[in-house]
Amino acid sequence: MNVLRHPFASVRGAAARLLGFLVHQPSSPWVPIAVYVPLAAAAVLWNVFVDRPTTWDLVGLPMGGLLIWTLVEYFLHSRGFHSTLDTDWVRGLGKSHREHHDRPTDPGRIFARLSFSLPVALLIWGLLSLVLWSPKRAALPMAGLILGYLAYELIHYAIHRSKTFRIYLRPLVRHHLYHHHKDEERCYGVTSPLWDLIFGTMPRPAESRTGFVSPTTCPAATLPPPSPTEPGGITPCSTEPTT
Ligand SMILES: [Zn+2]
Ligand SMILES: [Zn+2]
Repeated sequence: MNVLRHPFASVRGAAARLLGFLVHQPSSPWVPIAVYVPLAAAAVLWNVFVDRPTTWDLVGLPMGGLLIWTLVEYFLHSRGFHSTLDTDWVRGLGKSHREHHDRPTDPGRIFARLSFSLPVALLIWGLLSLVLWSPKRAALPMAGLILGYLAYELIHYAIHRSKTFRIYLRPLVRHHLYHHHKDEERCYGVTSPLWDLIFGTMPRPAESRTGFVSPTTCPAATLPPPSPTEPGGITPCSTEPTT
């Protein structure tokens, strides 16, 4: 009866539930995987079934998208999350990222909300569509960019949460924990240090091997030796700093 009196009530209810999910999504790596893997697959299949893309299109454009992701990651982190610009949007980004720095192992502070990542993805797709003059063709670099984004989320999660997987990621673990615990104005790359190298934000040479964790936050931390409790050989704060 309610639906008959208010035909859009159920639509509004569904939209509100969707919005609530986008903003308060579960803190699990499976959420971005479940959303973005089908989108990347659809982007490739759209091109394969509608056109006959060349090998260059099928390989080169996604690889280009992967490279673009590393640049997006660098600039979002350095100029967005750590920006000193005084606008509501930038302050909101900075506040959310500050919470991750304050509580780096909190899974609720590791993954980007879909309410943020989806609009950013749409914006980049729009820009690529203008550059390539074809939304369909632009979907191919977007597929690579999405894979780069998923790699970022999973690597970032593993760095802070997984003792099992970070043994395989030791250089990236060092790089990211330097950013967290030594100098927040360096080491912005998570999936790659490429743009830190290019823009001169790699660790200071004198600090690259020792003392990457601030003595004030983790007095016992040194690099190396390997620790039996940390398979990656990283001697971490037993609990990452919460202040
Ligand atoms: Zn982090
Ligand atoms: Zn940061």
